Amino acid sequence: MRIDQSSAQLRSGSPTASAPSPVNALLPGDYLPAMNDLRSSLRDVADHIVDYRAGLQTSRVTPSSTRAEVREKLSMRLPDDGAALPDVISELVGHATPGLMASAGPRYFGFVVGGSVDAALAADLLTTGWDQVGFNEALSPAAIAFEDVAGSWLKDLLRIPASASVGFVTGAQAANTVGLAAARWKVLRDHGHDVGVDGLFGAPRIRVIAGEERHATVDRALRLLGFGERSLELVSSDDNGAMDPRSLAETLHRGSDGPTIIVAQAGNVNTGAFDDLTRIGSLAKEHQAWLHVDGAFGLWAAASPEYTHLVDGLEGADSWGCDGHKWLNVPYDSGYIFCAYPDVHATAMAYTAEYLTGQVADREFGGGDFVPESSRRSRGFATWAALRSLGRSGVAELIDRNCALARMLAERLGDVPGVEIPNDVVLNQVLIEVGDTAFTNRVEREIQKDGSVWMGATTWRGRRLLRAAISNWSTNKDDIEQTVSAIRRAMEAASD
Ligand SMILES: *Cc1c(COP(=O)(O)O)cnc(C)c1O
Repeated sequence: MRIDQSSAQLRSGSPTASAPSPVNALLPGDYLPAMNDLRSSLRDVADHIVDYRAGLQTSRVTPSSTRAEVREKLSMRLPDDGAALPDVISELVGHATPGLMASAGPRYFGFVVGGSVDAALAADLLTTGWDQVGFNEALSPAAIAFEDVAGSWLKDLLRIPASASVGFVTGAQAANTVGLAAARWKVLRDHGHDVGVDGLFGAPRIRVIAGEERHATVDRALRLLGFGERSLELVSSDDNGAMDPRSLAETLHRGSDGPTIIVAQAGNVNTGAFDDLTRIGSLAKEHQAWLHVDGAFGLWAAASPEYTHLVDGLEGADSWGCDGHKWLNVPYDSGYIFCAYPDVHATAMAYTAEYLTGQVADREFGGGDFVPESSRRSRGFATWAALRSLGRSGVAELIDRNCALARMLAERLGDVPGVEIPNDVVLNQVLIEVGDTAFTNRVEREIQKDGSVWMGATTWRGRRLLRAAISNWSTNKDDIEQTVSAIRRAMEAASD
């Protein structure tokens, strides 16, 4: 656009002071010297990344600067003149480092975060270098092909039917949103209403039934999709936080058999508990309800012969959400939505436009057809690389090792006076009771201040508890010993 305008100026032969520069001044010259800068800067960046990751084994986990402190150092007016590449990188590294959380390392147990295995990290750097748009084959055959293959591998590992569609989304929040959008389309179509054309105006009311311990992203997905909080009917859970199937049966019988969606969970974010997908699946079939499974991290149990029984029955669901960036240890952001009916999935999500080459009537769906974004990072490369480097046995070992470390942490803490483990450690999540709410909050602050490990607190069933999620490939036994010591120290400090 700017070049066109300046050509017009040149043609008119009367450039004015405010006119755009002549076209030649806007055309870049020789790129090669810049390429040499890029090569040396990327080598520096690679060295920095490797040193940073090696340092994670021993470094403090808690950052030394707060958001406000980092911002304070950064704050200046946007300079008029640009800076040279090496200067940009060194300013970036210098200013960011004090505010980095060592969440990629082995002693970060907050939320459910995971690290990144080397192959996935390298693939993600290549993804950035290649800068491919993961929309369709016309934009990048490789991006879509790698999603096709990585998607098949994921379905195989996660016991999802091979005929299911796969969308590579930002994370489980997006996966839940897309799964529920597909569900909304299908249950309404079964009742003669096309939500794609008419929206929710004039639609029969949809019942959405979920466990009282569902993840909060389900609520946000429902809000975004226009269901409203009142659509949600909650089912009580058992002692470890799994949905109680008898309570689900009662809830289903209590209401109408209109359009119904059930949201089950594989892996409770506090306790790791699994809903009974076999019983929930048969209730869903009986009531012609759509069953969506939120398996952000827990679905990975399917990939381990030791834990796969926890997800028995999952084959009977209609959609499944899962994360790559949590337990598969792919860099952020990486999630997956699987749907048993590719046509429903694509009808709910895909769009088309005149200029979209490759979008023909009998085309193979993929890429942008199964996600909410239009232009998008090519997420298949990093997932493919993680799976290729770990192999089937490596994924199973990662799951088994993290779960064994969680059990070890629970056992070792069980020996500490004043500590109770209130959940049944069925997977990788450990809840830690150290005292009343005020004391627990003090212990949490002391742990984070101490900085050798990082964990947060949660409120589960009215009790304030510390919470540890073990989902990093590099965590080992020594990290667990250090964690037990850190909790002991924090309890002593909080008692003073
Ligand atoms: C983390 C999590 C989510 C949300 O996943 P994001 O990757 O943060 O979008 C949803 N459900 C469960 C059970 C989770 O653990």
